Amino acid sequence: MKTIIVVGNGMVGYKFCEKLAAKEESKNFKIIVFGEEPRPAYDRVHLSEFFENQDAKALEMAPAEWYAENNIDLVVGERVSDINRTDKTITTAKDREFSYDYLVLATGSSAFVPPIKGVEKEGVFVYRTIEDLEGMLAYAAKIKENNPNAKAAVLGGGLLGLEAGKAVMDMGLEPHIVEFAPKLMPRQLDSRSSQVLQLKLESIGLNIHLSKATNQILGDKAITGMEFGEDDVLDVEMLVVSAGIRPRDELGKYSGLEMGTRGGIVVDNKMQTSDPNIYAIGEIALYNQMIYGLVAPGYDMAGVAVDQILGYTETLMPDEIDMSTKLKLIGVDVASFGEPFMPASKGHSIIFENKTQHLYKRINVSLDGKSLLGGILVGDASDYSMLHQIFLNGMAIPEDPAQLILPTTEGGASFGDVMDLPEEAQICSCENVTKGQICGTIESGESKELADVVSCTKAGTGCGGCKPMVKDLTEATLKSLGIEVKDSICEHFDFNRQDLYKIIQVKGYKTFNEVLDNHGNDGHGCELCKPVVASLMASINADTANKEYAIQDSNDRFLANIQRNGTYSVVPRVPGGEITPDKLIALGEIAKKYDLYTKVTGGVRIDLFGATLNQLPLIWKDLIDHGFESGHAYGKSLRTVKTCVGSTWCRYGMAESVSFGIELENRYRGIRAPHKIKGGVSGCIRECAEARGKDFGLIAVEGGWNLYLGGNGGATPRHAELFAEQIDNETVIKYIDRYLMLYMRTAKPLQRTAAWQERLEGGLDYLKEVIIEDKLGIAEDLDHEMQTLVNKFECEWTQAINDPEMMKRFNHFVNSEEDDDNLVFVPLREQKMPEKWV
Ligand SMILES: Cc1cc2nc3c(=O)[nH]c(=O)nc-3n(C[C@H](O)[C@H](O)[C@H](O)COP(=O)(O)OP(=O)(O)OC[C@H]3O[C@@H](n4cnc5c(N)ncnc54)[C@H](O)[C@@H]3O)c2cc1C
Ligand code: SF4
Ligand code: SF4
Repeated sequence: MKTIIVVGNGMVGYKFCEKLAAKEESKNFKIIVFGEEPRPAYDRVHLSEFFENQDAKALEMAPAEWYAENNIDLVVGERVSDINRTDKTITTAKDREFSYDYLVLATGSSAFVPPIKGVEKEGVFVYRTIEDLEGMLAYAAKIKENNPNAKAAVLGGGLLGLEAGKAVMDMGLEPHIVEFAPKLMPRQLDSRSSQVLQLKLESIGLNIHLSKATNQILGDKAITGMEFGEDDVLDVEMLVVSAGIRPRDELGKYSGLEMGTRGGIVVDNKMQTSDPNIYAIGEIALYNQMIYGLVAPGYDMAGVAVDQILGYTETLMPDEIDMSTKLKLIGVDVASFGEPFMPASKGHSIIFENKTQHLYKRINVSLDGKSLLGGILVGDASDYSMLHQIFLNGMAIPEDPAQLILPTTEGGASFGDVMDLPEEAQICSCENVTKGQICGTIESGESKELADVVSCTKAGTGCGGCKPMVKDLTEATLKSLGIEVKDSICEHFDFNRQDLYKIIQVKGYKTFNEVLDNHGNDGHGCELCKPVVASLMASINADTANKEYAIQDSNDRFLANIQRNGTYSVVPRVPGGEITPDKLIALGEIAKKYDLYTKVTGGVRIDLFGATLNQLPLIWKDLIDHGFESGHAYGKSLRTVKTCVGSTWCRYGMAESVSFGIELENRYRGIRAPHKIKGGVSGCIRECAEARGKDFGLIAVEGGWNLYLGGNGGATPRHAELFAEQIDNETVIKYIDRYLMLYMRTAKPLQRTAAWQERLEGGLDYLKEVIIEDKLGIAEDLDHEMQTLVNKFECEWTQAINDPEMMKRFNHFVNSEEDDDNLVFVPLREQKMPEKWV
């Protein structure tokens, strides 16, 4: 029986074992794997997830038993120290010797630490293994004990450096990224996209220092700072070095294998080294004069080596390796694919940029305009999967390629459907899974849902970049077979919003991570599930958007609505539209002080436009000093209750619409819901407040109020339906309480009451049975839940400006004096407006 020895039990070494074990012929071999780390191979790509639960087992590629079950001897915690190529033996650091017929080197790489003076000091880490992370966590806790505002730096602004920066931030340290190059992610991004990424990262709290060469690390025993120049020092108490990788090629060197001039063991397209019995795969292998620091090429190499050893000699490594990447940072979309930078002689670049919205999209197309050669996406990478597929499969692109990246409002078009992809389109490049395989496992009945598809094909289990597309394909195939698709909110949860509502309520969860850890799938969450969970937390626990602000959508994150030119609008609450002259004057003075454009809105309040981010806290401080509070114009929450003057002034008025409108607005202010909510109160059937165009509307009639529910304006206007007639104030409140609570519990994300009500089985009659007759026996719960929310109301702007911790998200902007060239205003009827977009 021949022996295969694998040196290195990292991701690629493991993948070799997995692919080998899947072949019948593997039974004819004795397989021994040596790993130097103290545990079986784990998912290094998702290493950062270790910070969340510190559960090393959760990252395991396969448990130790798997190796035994598959006839593989796994030896962990033992380094292979030498190879004797003549005798075909290896020796380990424990001085044990083993013979091989085939040797597979999968020793990967280690983090490169530049030889900077003082780099050996305590508090300097690399970011590569679980042990590194354990060390960082313990050290961070120690320094925070002495200094709660401790700072930490990451040396290197590449893909991994940014991930490390986010990890440091999540540890509660003030994060600084120090990069030698004049731009971030120099291997993947051009200068303009790097600038946009920088703005975006700064907006979430990372401090970026570019073009900085570190002369020395300061401190006695432990690090206290980094010195760049004579008077240029950054005080930090911890440093994570992420300055690239170096192949662990010492075994190749000692045993005289052919090496690259800058390291790495040279291999051919069979993954064979200069010794035909020795193969090298993963980050140790120098193929086409390159080390590929990504997992997908490593997995391909593992497959080639397995086939070559088993005699399937036609399996070869392709010449071209796809280096497309997507950054895994939460809240920051960055991706590059194909050729991100391209000389003008080779094709045309089309660029769409909006710095203020932190958006940059570039595609490179061939000179004849017919094919996509590569691109960069910053700020919004939702098109990444489709663009990547168009690139990989050489699919035709629109006559005007700009349509691929422009927002629909600017002439863009939604392009391509997953089902249009060719069967052989490679969807998951890590596991080499095609569209045909994904659809096939569903069509054959083997897979009934996404989880089955993932476990049958392994699609999405590598870097995870393809997960959204695997989900889309699964759903589209299920639908085409007439199978009902579960409306889970995204790939991270198998639940819809309603299920999650119940889960959070029953379990009493208070943070996003609790929900994700206990009920989510792999990953950190995304832009879909995070705001949904944030909204649910708010609806259940009365949390404001200041709690876990990182999971809020962008308007909620800054408690303001972003406008066309990237400035923000400020809308204080004016309940029922009633405002004193003093408050009107104050609004005018504040608007003048900050040079804001003012306009009375359709919801009877006053909108102040043109505020920059750094002005927001200052403006709100002034407003709050004058008795205003947040109007939640940015939230999926109650906006306004519009009122007519009613019987207070109007001679037709049958009831005090203003007083009741104010009472209702104050009752429901700040309550988060699946979408925005508006109310209206009219003093008689002349309906001056347009109450029937609102989510809840009241019209005063003889003997009380008529209550209308489920109306809205907007793109698909709908009149509210008459729900109850001639009811008194108390009953109105009871019914609206129950209605809104039911809506908050059961609607889909971003579904207005009108659409929800329309699709409700049983419609208005069902609503009456539940709300008025209490058919489900839940009325008391609904009343109680709403009253709790009402009692717990807090103005989130007051909360924010009074809490230094919450203000941190604005700190950068408050201190920034920098002018934004994109902000150009032109005069408009004695005020100003943004210059027209060109
Ligand atoms: C934080 C982080 C995030 C990443 N994110 C991504 C990503 O998003 N996408 C992506 O494609 N890639 C990513 N990568 C890179 C990816 O993890 C690597 O490409 C992949 O792990 C390489 O696998 P490997 O098996 O070749 O090497 P390694 O994972 O380095 O494994 C090699 C193993 O061999 C062991 N070893 C070395 N020498 C010996 C010896 N002499 N004897 C015994 N054992 C030995 C080492 O201890 C190690 O356990 C990331 C890496 C990190 C650190
Ligand atoms: S709705 Fe009736 S009460 Fe209200 S202002 Fe109009 S006419 Fe007057
Ligand atoms: S209707 Fe609303 S969304 Fe549309 S342009 Fe006017 S303010 Fe903007």
